[in-house]
Amino acid sequence: MPLGHLEEPMPNSLEEYLIKHIKDHGPIDVGQFMEIALGHPQHGYYMKQDPFGANGDFTTAPEISQMFGEMIGAWAADIWIQMGKPKPCMLLECGPGRGTLMADILRATKNVTDFHDSVRVHLLEMSPVLRSIQMEVIGANKVHFHESIHSVAEYDESMPVIIIANEFFDALPVRQLQRTEAGWQEKIVGLTPKNKLNWAYRPAKKDIIEYVDNCSDLIDINNIFEVSPIRLGVKKQISNILSDSGGAVLIVDYGHVESASGDTLQAVRNHKFCDVLSDVGNADLTAHVDFEALIVTQCDPEQIHGPVTQSAFLKTLGIEKRAEYLRSVATEKQASDIDKALKRLTDADQMGSLFKVLSFTHGQFNGKHLKPAGF
Ligand code: SAH
Repeated sequence: MPLGHLEEPMPNSLEEYLIKHIKDHGPIDVGQFMEIALGHPQHGYYMKQDPFGANGDFTTAPEISQMFGEMIGAWAADIWIQMGKPKPCMLLECGPGRGTLMADILRATKNVTDFHDSVRVHLLEMSPVLRSIQMEVIGANKVHFHESIHSVAEYDESMPVIIIANEFFDALPVRQLQRTEAGWQEKIVGLTPKNKLNWAYRPAKKDIIEYVDNCSDLIDINNIFEVSPIRLGVKKQISNILSDSGGAVLIVDYGHVESASGDTLQAVRNHKFCDVLSDVGNADLTAHVDFEALIVTQCDPEQIHGPVTQSAFLKTLGIEKRAEYLRSVATEKQASDIDKALKRLTDADQMGSLFKVLSFTHGQFNGKHLKPAGF
């Protein structure tokens, strides 16, 4: 090491890192806060642990029941058949968590002639911990990893694509704007005089006001409106990939069909809501997905499908019939678990109506637009 060069000490916790970062560079917006809290290479929530399941912090649909992945597998096989059974065809999952959904998709489609020979499994995952779990669950020789959507867009082999994203968009950072009599203010994270993380506001800068230009009238004074340049950027890249190669994307997430005001940023630890600024890096952070914002930039209405509720989507795909079959070959205890899982996935007061499903397609196959199942 050259004399006089002192290495920056490694922070011991995310809180320590954030406090130093804010002291050195000033307050950060909510999007930067989410990005650091989830993705800091050493202390970021997703970067250091497996957060899923009963012993983790939260549970997602594929972790609740194999039936979810089986329905998505049937959806993917159907769209691949509509596409004329292309070989090769990229099957990309964005944010695959523990790899459970992809493993269930592959298991559910193993008897679809030529499907497994044709699809190339690609995973978009930023977390090294989760990447190694995914490799174990799906098979290291079967998967090709990307750390960013840019890397998918730049992938040199061109082929049609089927893209699945379950609870991926909600993890992408949002920024929060508050409408006031004096104009838009942006919510930020700063420090108290005693150097504790603290919420604050500053006048919103021009680059972010652009995103709310059209909706000022819809937002009452003092209400928060969330915008996500990062989500829109990822969505745009996905649309570009679709228009270059043809194919379909399926987005499943919790959120609202129409843009609306509201602070939906939430922290969850141990299956309970907790304060966003306490215990940073140890709680999952998400915000609801604004489906209208994802759709308005899509030009061809014929190639937008949904959003519909998760309940309607899964029922149209036949989840009740599948549950009935599984129950018929199950023990009493298993049958009761199947019932519970079905209710959890589809009941309106559980995941059935808060979760929405949206698909975009692109291209004509055998002279026809794609008609994804479930809508
Ligand atoms: N789809 C899974 C997991 C959802 S949790 C399931 O339903 O169980 C969010 C997933 O997205 C995790 O795998 C997380 O590591 C990944 N992720 C979050 N932000 C990301 C980003 N910016 N780039 C790549 N992966 C990301």
